[in-house]
Amino acid sequence: MSTQRPALKFPLRLDRLSSAMTLSTHVPARPLLRPQALLQHAAVEAARRIVPSGVGLDSADVRRRMVERLKLTGLRDEAVLGAMAAVPRHQFVDTALVNQAYEDTSLPIGHGQTISKPSIVARMIELLRGGAAALTTGSLGHVLEVGTGCGYQTAILARLSRQVFSVERVRPLYDKARQNLAELRDAQIRLVYGDGTLGHAPNAPYASIIVSAGGDVIAQAWLDQLAPGGRLVAPVRAADNRQTLMVVDKTAGGFRHTNFERVYFVPLRSGLA
Ligand code: SAH
Repeated sequence: MSTQRPALKFPLRLDRLSSAMTLSTHVPARPLLRPQALLQHAAVEAARRIVPSGVGLDSADVRRRMVERLKLTGLRDEAVLGAMAAVPRHQFVDTALVNQAYEDTSLPIGHGQTISKPSIVARMIELLRGGAAALTTGSLGHVLEVGTGCGYQTAILARLSRQVFSVERVRPLYDKARQNLAELRDAQIRLVYGDGTLGHAPNAPYASIIVSAGGDVIAQAWLDQLAPGGRLVAPVRAADNRQTLMVVDKTAGGFRHTNFERVYFVPLRSGLA
């Protein structure tokens, strides 16, 4: 320490007040060197960078504001919005990106992959809930998710379904999702390390199938594993070569395909990594 002054404990006893005042006249004009202060200051600065205002104690409030913004984009399904308001997205992104967790943007999660942006997660699940089986039961039932990534969408799906089977082909992402979702201790989630273009036969059929990576075609395994009355939502390359959100319903009369808006997903790849 740089000063020889005796440490003063506050509040001061009355009989020490005068000596304290005398001492204060000896305080040098330039600031005292206090090495710990610099460290403390650095820690405060780091925390400010990592924990944005609003994330932390009142992150529920930040999510409510995110949901208000989602409503402005036309999303209406209260059940989906409720799930979006409940799941802490900041726990699924890297620490350095936490301050962007509640912006409507996709973010890198490593291995060349991204966490989908909240509006597309909500949009796809809203479409999924419009399937015949989901409309009758009010639940997504058994869900197959292709492309777990960091597990954020998995956590949202779990709140709206009986069980989610989520397949990821990149081992470190599968591990990351396991870690992220372990904290939520959600018994409805089953993570699978595998090639999702093959679906996940052991737990088929699925009332709902949702795909988070863009392929050239809708995999045959998904159609085979879709339950009657079930619905699939996937980004697929359309005739004009653009990636488009596609909905496939399995009806008594066969499959009904409907194309929706243009989307931008990372590519669906086969095999394991
Ligand atoms: N819903 C995820 C999206 C992650 S990005 C999230 O919000 O985090 C898409 C993911 O699909 C990537 O993790 C990628 O590795 C995975 N993927 C691509 N092709 C796949 C395949 N054939 N089987 C399983 N996962 C696949």
